Amino acid sequence: MDMKLQEKILRDRWHELTARLRKIDTDLGRTKATDDDDRAIENENDEVLEGLGQAGEDELRAIDAALERIARGTYGTCARCGAAISEGTVRARASRTAGDGEWHRWFHA
Ligand SMILES: [Zn+2]
Repeated sequence: MDMKLQEKILRDRWHELTARLRKIDTDLGRTKATDDDDRAIENENDEVLEGLGQAGEDELRAIDAALERIARGTYGTCARCGAAISEGTVRARASRTAGDGEWHRWFHA
């Protein structure tokens, strides 16, 4: 497996997510409407944005863990049993290879 390429894919995704999360924070921090109807719509939008922000942060954490596994040389192996994971599988779920038991169960249990 080309670790340099894999690392680049993860880092690119990391930057993309960080930029998106920054935008979500900006949107959430904007001045609130004074009109009640407008405020109700804004609150709904904020809930959606917060959901997106949470998903983004979860993925960022997974990417951080995957990058750490690359650094430690354990990327591409199952975190539970150490079995090698095929490149295609890793590529399909790049940020999931931080893998805990989940990975093990899905792919070769
Ligand atoms: Zn396993």
